[in-house]
Amino acid sequence: METILSIKNLHKRYGKLQAVKNVSLEIQKGNVYGILGPNGSGKSTTLGIVLNVVNKTSGEYSWFGGTLQTHEALKKVGAIIERPNFYPYMTAKENLELVCKIKGISYNKVQEKLEVVGLYDRKDSKFNTFSLGMKQRLAIASALLNDPEILILDEPTNGLDPQGIHQIRDIIRLIASQGTTILLASHLLDEVEKVCSHVLVLRKGEILYSGTVEGMSTNNGFIELQANDNKSL
Ligand code: ADP
Ligand code: MG
Repeated sequence: METILSIKNLHKRYGKLQAVKNVSLEIQKGNVYGILGPNGSGKSTTLGIVLNVVNKTSGEYSWFGGTLQTHEALKKVGAIIERPNFYPYMTAKENLELVCKIKGISYNKVQEKLEVVGLYDRKDSKFNTFSLGMKQRLAIASALLNDPEILILDEPTNGLDPQGIHQIRDIIRLIASQGTTILLASHLLDEVEKVCSHVLVLRKGEILYSGTVEGMSTNNGFIELQANDNKSL
């Protein structure tokens, strides 16, 4: 087994607020991990720490067995943690070509990645004509341009209609089936059940469950939580 990311006893305090408490997680190559929890449970903070955009208070994390400097390791990580943001009057293709230029990636990846997210037939449409779902799919294509080892997605289906949600979930499954490791933050139990093999359940920054998605459904404490929260964490 190849470890992509190892998180050990991570803590994050914002002033008096303890946003992340003693979170640990081992991410192995080829699996699809969910971080599941209600709003404010520390999902985005955890992702921000490992992506080096939020400072940890204490604890450790290491990418790829700790063999690389963080900034080198992060070149092998694709992440979408914000709303998709591209040049509105440029086409999908032009926007991705610009990303290639900035990152020093060959343009010939653009077609392949547009196909993965089902946007190849819209390659010549301007970004500002895209629905939110299409924008999100373009962001996924962009994050895949350098063939990352792992794709990190923070609530990628938020705000989408049912069809848009379905498309994004299908794309995540497709990318996973091609061998890319996935880490997906979501507040939706059904999303994690449909897409992920493994899950870290957070509540108020603390681990409530960590293991396989199958194991989660037989975990008594979790069933209680599920009943109380009516399927939507
Ligand atoms: P989630 O992504 O699960 O919704 P977050 O990681 O965004 O949770 O937030 C965890 C907690 O930390 C929340 O209580 C949130 O209000 C707080 N928080 C997040 N970012 C900041 C910040 N920059 N400053 C202060 N508090 C923050
Ligand atoms: Mg969040």
